[in-house]
Amino acid sequence: MSARPMRPRGPTVERCPICGKPASAEEAPFCSSRCREVDLNRWLGGAYRIPGEAVREPGGSDDED
Ligand SMILES: [Zn+2]
Repeated sequence: MSARPMRPRGPTVERCPICGKPASAEEAPFCSSRCREVDLNRWLGGAYRIPGEAVREPGGSDDED
């Protein structure tokens, strides 16, 4: 296939709104799935949360999966 995405004049490099790196074609406008999740969590939770950063509550109830 030789179908090209329609682009405006000039090479427009989209940048990840999270970290500022050039966006990935697959994850546009983000650079990675991780930044996509970070942005999603921002919208959903209204707080800046980085996926993977587990917060353990003091008390120690181990009932999570
Ligand atoms: Zn990024």
